Amino acid sequence: MKIAFFSTKPYDKEFFEKNKQTHELAFYDVSLNESSVRLAEGFDAICVFVNDIVNATILEKLAQLGIKLIALRCAGFNNVDFEVAKKLNISVVRVPAYSPHAVAEHAVSLIMTLNRKTHKAYNRVREGNFSLEKLIGFDLFQKTIGVIGTGKIGEAFAKIMLGFGCKVIAYDIFKNQNLIDLGVTYSSLDDVLSQSDIISLHCPLTDKTIHLIDNEALEKMKTGVMLINTSRGALIDTQAVVEALKNKKIGYLGLDVYEQESNIFFNDLSEEILIDDTLARLMTFPNVLITSHQGFLTEEALTQIAIITLNNISAFEEGKKSGNEV
Ligand code: NAD
Repeated sequence: MKIAFFSTKPYDKEFFEKNKQTHELAFYDVSLNESSVRLAEGFDAICVFVNDIVNATILEKLAQLGIKLIALRCAGFNNVDFEVAKKLNISVVRVPAYSPHAVAEHAVSLIMTLNRKTHKAYNRVREGNFSLEKLIGFDLFQKTIGVIGTGKIGEAFAKIMLGFGCKVIAYDIFKNQNLIDLGVTYSSLDDVLSQSDIISLHCPLTDKTIHLIDNEALEKMKTGVMLINTSRGALIDTQAVVEALKNKKIGYLGLDVYEQESNIFFNDLSEEILIDDTLARLMTFPNVLITSHQGFLTEEALTQIAIITLNNISAFEEGKKSGNEV
C-alpha cells in the first residue's frame, strides 16, 4: 500500500524504513491539519501520531482523497473522531501495546530525578560546584505509591515500584489479578489520592478521566505529594496544578505529557518565543520536571511500533483483521 506519514521525525523514518515490507512509504514532517491534508492525495492510507488531529473536517477531506485506512503509530486514540471515521468508511488501527516498559521506566526516571535531583547535581559538578546544599531526597523504600490505571503500563510501573520496596496501592475500573497476586491493594480513587506519597497516572484520556486531577482531587492529596503523568496531558487540570505548586500542596511534579502539547512538544523551539504562559509558568518551578512526550522513545518500543503498524496495514490490505482495529 502507499502510505503517507505525518509528523515524522528522523527516528520514525529510520525504524519504519528498516521494517517496511512491501509497502511504499512517504514521510512528511508536517503534522496533519487542514492545509497539509492534501499531501494524502494519491495514497491509500495515512499514518499519524499522538498530536495529529483527526477531526470531522480532516476525515471528510481524507475520504474525498480516497484514504481508506488511518494507522495510528501510538496506543492512545483520543485524537480521532471515530463516529465520523466509521460513517465515512475509513478504518482506524493502532498499536495497543509496544513496550509498556519504555513508558513505565520513563515514569520511574522522572521520580528518581525529581527525588534525587541528579539533573541539578550533574550541572553543579560540571561547573566545579561540589556542594550538596538543597539536594536532599528521600528513600523510596516503604513509601506508598498510588497507581491510577493498572493496564499494561501501570502494571509494569507497579512491578518496578514493588522492587524498590514500596507499598503499591491502585485504582482502576478493572482490577489486575497479576498485581493483586504480587501484593498490590486496590482502593477507591479517593483513598489512593489521600494515602499516596507518589501518584502516577496510567489510565487513558476519556470523557471520564479528563481533568481527573482537578482542584478537588488535589485537595485530597498529602501535602508535598509527588505527581507523575506519562499518560495524557488533559488528565490533569494544569491551571489547578500550577496553583497547587504555588501553595506547596504538590511537592514535585513530573510530566511527560501536557494538555496543550501539540505544536510544542517534539519540536525544537529554542529560538522561538514560547507563547504558552501556563507551560512557561510550569517551567519556572524548581520542583517540576518536564520531558516532551518521550516515554515511548526506546529502541525496543520504536521497533515494535514500526512492525505492528506495518502488520496492521498489511492485514487491512489482505482483508484480514489484525486485532488492532479501534
Ligand atoms: P491499557 O489500556 O493497557 O491500560 C489502561 C488502564 O486504564 C486499564 O486498566 C483501564 O481499565 C484503566 N482505566 C480506564 N478508564 C479508567 C478510569 N476512568 N479510571 C481508572 N482507570 C481507568 O493502556 P496502557 O498501554 O497501559 O497505556 C496507558 C496510557 O499511557 C495510554 O492511554 C496512553 O495515553 C499513555 N501512553 C503514553 C506514552 C508516552 O510516550 N508517554 C506511550 C504510550 C501510552
